[in-house]
Amino acid sequence: MMRHDWTLEELETLHKLPLLELISQSHTLHIQFHPIGEIQVCSLISIKTGGCPEDCKYCPQSSHYQTSVSAQPLMQYEDVLNDAKKAIAMGATRVCLGVAWRGVRDGNQFDEMLKMVKGITSLGVEVCCTLGMLNESQAKRLKDAGLYAYNHNLDSSEEFYKTIITTRTYQDRLNTLDIIEKTGISVCCGGIMGMGETVSDRMKLLLTLAKRNPHPESVPINRLAPIPGTPLENRPILSIWEMVRMVAVARIVLPKAMIRLSCGRLEMSHEEQALCFLAGANSIHAGEKLLTTPNISVSEDEKMFALLGLKKRPAFSAA
Ligand code: SF4
Repeated sequence: MMRHDWTLEELETLHKLPLLELISQSHTLHIQFHPIGEIQVCSLISIKTGGCPEDCKYCPQSSHYQTSVSAQPLMQYEDVLNDAKKAIAMGATRVCLGVAWRGVRDGNQFDEMLKMVKGITSLGVEVCCTLGMLNESQAKRLKDAGLYAYNHNLDSSEEFYKTIITTRTYQDRLNTLDIIEKTGISVCCGGIMGMGETVSDRMKLLLTLAKRNPHPESVPINRLAPIPGTPLENRPILSIWEMVRMVAVARIVLPKAMIRLSCGRLEMSHEEQALCFLAGANSIHAGEKLLTTPNISVSEDEKMFALLGLKKRPAFSAA
């Protein structure tokens, strides 16, 4: 049953359950709503890298920090299409396009982006964009270009968000999510774990998502990859047990959503990922890079699919 009336206490109680009990609950729900062992492969292409005016403390693309990432122009249409085709050849059925913008601005670059959305959509996969804030007419133009989903993460609880990003507010994020939803674009919204937040911050993020009606269809659960030069460079890597618990509670309160292991898989063994899948994760972001951050190699992921007997999910847009 879809619930939108969860309380923070209920989520915190779930999070504290003995691990096997928690996984057993989340797995039971998982198999009611999703084919067992079916994992969607997503690819994330950074089509406009670096030089971002925002100050997200985890991000090497912010112009506020000295990192190894430098500002690049918008990628050419043909190059983006070629990257998308390579991703599809490795089994991706969702292609995400990321740009380091505060928000969408009308003009040549946005027109070019719309062309890319159209071009990749015509290859038969779901296209998702993450372009920052946008207005209703821009959302409508993306929808008309065939855009399937829009990613706009809330990252953490509202209180903790303020300590990580000061150039925009949680309310800005919620407003953009409302615009996306109203336009009929599928909502992708999740967070980053391991930035120094408490378990309660993580549960508040899930609560905000679970209270939305409808629930977001896609929820990336990222584990912070601390990047040299960013203010979070010295954060310790979050324990796998915290990741598994987060995935399991997300699965329980958002039973129908695609729960995606995105950034932060690089340090995970096959066993650890298997535990996440058992707890309710049913998607991975694959490819050599996630925007600018190194990722598990495609051949290593192929080994994992074979080892665990996983199947790759076809595109929703093809259904
Ligand atoms: S996370 Fe996005 S908005 Fe924030 S600094 Fe990085 S590219 Fe900019």
